[in-house]
Amino acid sequence: MPSALITGASSGIGKEFANQLAAKGFDLILVARDEERLNTVGEELSSRYSVGHTVIKADLSRLDEINELALRIKNQELSVDLLVNNAGFGLNKAFHNSSSSEEKALLEVLVTAPLILTQAAISQMIEKNKGYVINVGSVAAWITSGTYSAAKSWLHSFTESMHAQYSSQGIIFSAVAPGFTRTEFHQRANIKMHSMPKWLWLEDKKVVHAAIEGLFKGKSLVVPGAQYKLLKVFADLMPRSAIRSFSNYYQAKRRGN
Ligand code: NAP
Repeated sequence: MPSALITGASSGIGKEFANQLAAKGFDLILVARDEERLNTVGEELSSRYSVGHTVIKADLSRLDEINELALRIKNQELSVDLLVNNAGFGLNKAFHNSSSSEEKALLEVLVTAPLILTQAAISQMIEKNKGYVINVGSVAAWITSGTYSAAKSWLHSFTESMHAQYSSQGIIFSAVAPGFTRTEFHQRANIKMHSMPKWLWLEDKKVVHAAIEGLFKGKSLVVPGAQYKLLKVFADLMPRSAIRSFSNYYQAKRRGN
C-alpha cells in the first residue's frame, strides 16, 4: 500500500487529509505535537478504512525535531509516497509586539519543515520515479500580512519551482491556497472572525477534496472555492498599493481594532 505522511494531522485540514487519503487506501504517517489526538485519528481511520498508521510526535518549530523526522525518511525507515506539508499556525500580533522567537518558530513550521521534509522525501520519490507533494499554502500569500504572508508566498513559489523541476520525473508538486476555513486555526491564534461574511468561509472537506483532485490532475496551484478563484483574479489585477492598504485594514480588523 502507498503511504502518506501528513504534518499537522491532529486537527483541521491535516486531519481531513488523513481521512480522505485513508479512504483512497493510503497508509498514514501522522505528525504533530499532540500524540493523544494523533492516536485517536489514526485508530479511527485504520479501523474505518483498513489502512495502517504510524504516529510521530514532533514539534516542527524545533530544527532538531524536523531533522530527526527527516532522517527517518532519508534512511527509509518511513516510506513516503505522498507528503502533505500542512502544519501551521498564525500570529495575531503586530510585528513590534511579537518576539523574534515567535516569528522564528512560525518560519520553522511554515518554511523550514516543508523544505527539509521535502528534501528527505524526494530522494525516495526519485528512486521510484513517482511521488506526490501537497503544500498547504494560503490566500494570505497574495496579501501583505507579515511573516505569515511572506512564508506562504515562499511556499507557493517553492512548490511551483519544484513542480517545474520534477514533474518530468513523475513527481507532482501542488500547492493548495485555502481561504478562511473552519478549523481551530483562528481560535488558536485568537483571531477575531465574527465580522467575516459567511460567503467567505470554506469547509475543510471541500478544501481537501479540491487539493487532492488538483494534485492528481497535475495542477501546481489549487484555489478552492469560486469566491476565492474570483478574488485571485482581482488580486492579480489590483495595484500593490491597494493590496497593502487592504492588508493593513484586514489585520487591524482581525485584531479587533
Ligand atoms: P488547525 O486546526 O489549528 O491545525 C493546525 C495543525 O498544525 C494541528 O494539527 C497542529 O497540531 C499542527 N501544528 C501547529 N504547530 C505545530 C508545531 N509546532 N509542530 C507540529 N505541528 C504543529 O488549523 P488548520 O486550519 O487546519 O491549519 C492547517 C494549515 O492550513 C496551516 O498551514 C494553515 O496555515 C493553513 N491555512 C488555514 C486556513 C484557515 O482559514 N483555517 C487558511 C489558509 C491556510 P498540534 O497542535 O497537535 O501540534
